[in-house]
Formats: sequence, structure tokens, C-alpha cells
Amino acid sequence: MPFDDQRVDVSGVDDRRGRGLGTPIAVGGGGLGLVGILLLLLVNALGGDTSSLLTGGASTSGTGETTAQLSARCNSDGAIDRYEDCYVIKSYNEINEVWASQFSDSSYEPPRLVFFEQATNTGCGTASSEVGPFYCPSDRSVYIDLGFLKALQQRFGAEGRYAQTYIVAHEVGHHLQTLTGTESRVRATQGRGDTQALAIGVELQADCYAGVWSALANRAGNFSISERELDQALNAAAAVGDDRIQQKTQGRVDPERWTHGSAQQRRQAFLTGYEAARGDACTSLVPLRP
Ligand SMILES: [Zn+2]
Repeated sequence: MPFDDQRVDVSGVDDRRGRGLGTPIAVGGGGLGLVGILLLLLVNALGGDTSSLLTGGASTSGTGETTAQLSARCNSDGAIDRYEDCYVIKSYNEINEVWASQFSDSSYEPPRLVFFEQATNTGCGTASSEVGPFYCPSDRSVYIDLGFLKALQQRFGAEGRYAQTYIVAHEVGHHLQTLTGTESRVRATQGRGDTQALAIGVELQADCYAGVWSALANRAGNFSISERELDQALNAAAAVGDDRIQQKTQGRVDPERWTHGSAQQRRQAFLTGYEAARGDACTSLVPLRP
């Protein structure tokens, strides 16, 4: 086990599995309709718990666990090896621990980690799992549909568990961009300059931060990385390159529609961060004027 300890801290986790927008519900036999969605939005806006509304006869594929149950399961013997969600939470714990050590005066505030299925409400609007794992700056949360992530990994050949750690580290990389002000500076320049280059730069920087984290975590012993883990991360970074995804989904490559960079660029961005082991090695990837 590459982690330095086996303790899993679920305090930053918002587990919405089994109660998302797309969860089948036994009303009218169909999925959650417009009325249900409005109801859900209303309840969310009031800060209430929506789970009780959705439990009557609903067949959920979620774990249906309370936070205490999730914590107990993830801290049971061998849980990190056995359960994908516990592994992802543990990765998230170690990613936050390492980044916190890089910020002065304990000023690092971790993002929340939201598990959902199919669709969920976010500070950035309603999101479907088809967009893949993502980070929303407005509510400073990383959103992951584990089932969809697994399918995505299989489809695009991002094999291995460290591929998941890389994905979480990439999303937390976007969180760093929010904390450091890069995200707001990019938003301020929108409409001017080369927006595609900026968007790709933001993604490559998140890959670079994931590489920096990997190196720092390895050095500090939080997560020891063998050649196998490094390969899994580099393969995953390449597998989600725009050229690879376009080739797989539409059978041709169209660089004008790239949003995240090519396989080669993403792999290189991770490696740049990994070799430098310093966040400032990633600064120039986002083409902002000083
Ligand atoms: Zn990203």
C-alpha cells in the first residue's frame, strides 16, 4: 500500500450517491421529472436534506450510507484496497495534506469532494456525469461519479488506481487555481486574447500541479510512487488528451476544438510538474500577461 497510513477522513466528503437528479424514483414510474427537479432545487436552496424526499419506494444504486457508516467502512481493515470510493477519499486526503503543507499559516482550505450519480446540482449549474469529473470554483468542490469514472477509464484506457489519484489531483489543481487567483484572472480576460490557448493552459497547469503533488507526496512519504504509479499517471494524462478522445469518439482529430491539450502536451505537463516538484514550474503554462 503506497499510503503512509490507512486513516481515511471523510469530513470533506459530500456523498450524494443514490439521491441525485437522475436517480430513478417510483413516482409515475419514470425518472425524476421537472416537478421533482424544481422541488429538489427548492429544498437545496433552503439547505434541507433531500434524501428523505427520494427514499419512498426509490430504487437507488447509491450506498445509502450515513457519513458515520462511510467513515467506519473506509477505516475498516483493507478498505482502501477493497473499495474504490475509500481509495479516492484517501487520495483526496493526502492531496490536501501535501498542499496544506505548501501554504503558509495554514491558509490552505481544501475543496469539498462530492460523490454523485448521473446528475447533481452544483454552484456551476446542474451537471451530468457525462462531463466527467470536474471542479466548480463557485462552490469550491470536486465532483466525481465513480461509476462513470470507471467506464471512462476503461473506454479511454486510463488503467490503474493511480490514474484515479491523478484525476483527483488534477481537479484539486483547479482548486489551487481558484485559491491563487489564476482562475479569476483568466475569467477577467475572457473575450480578449486567445481564449482557446487560455483554456488549454488552465488544463495543462492542473496536470502540472498533479505532477508537482505526486513528487511532493512521494518525497514526504504520503504516497510512495514506483515506476508503475508514474506510468499509470502519465498514461492517464495522455489517455484524456483531446486528440485521443476525438479519435475515439469521432474518428478524427480536430485541434481547433481542443479544450485540454493533446496527449503529448498533457503527459509533458504532468512530467514538468513531477520533475520540478515546485508549483511555480507550472505558472507559465497559462498564457496570462504578467
Ligand atoms: Zn481540468
